[in-house]
Amino acid sequence: MSKKILSQKQKIAMKVCSKKHYKINKLYVLKQTKLRRIKVMKEWGNIVPKKTECAVCGKVIFFRHKKRYKTIHFDHRHGGNEPIKGPPSTWMSSNRPNERSLALFLKSDFGLLCGWCNYFIPTKDRLKWLDNLTNYIKG
Ligand SMILES: [Zn+2]
Repeated sequence: MSKKILSQKQKIAMKVCSKKHYKINKLYVLKQTKLRRIKVMKEWGNIVPKKTECAVCGKVIFFRHKKRYKTIHFDHRHGGNEPIKGPPSTWMSSNRPNERSLALFLKSDFGLLCGWCNYFIPTKDRLKWLDNLTNYIKG
């Protein structure tokens, strides 16, 4: 019983401590976080293709390109039922590519799209959306 309470207390203490640390060293912490995320994304760069084509329109896209529509967008292609629910890039930047995270990433089976295609294709009910589009075009 005491062990569980102790760990709970420790967790709270750690939270308070990190909050205090964050308040005092806000700029430093933000810079360190940014640097860590860049470093982790560089590690992912060895796994994800650096240059590929959009799976829908065929435009050449790059991993971590500065321009929004030239960068690879990882697409939830299975209707949002993937193990990684949130934005894949955010998840990648906070999870180093180790055995566990790599398995999770591969299981998610993200599509590689350009910014435009990722913007226009909805995540849920894609086939219905495609049917509607086809019916609209046919008139
Ligand atoms: Zn595209």
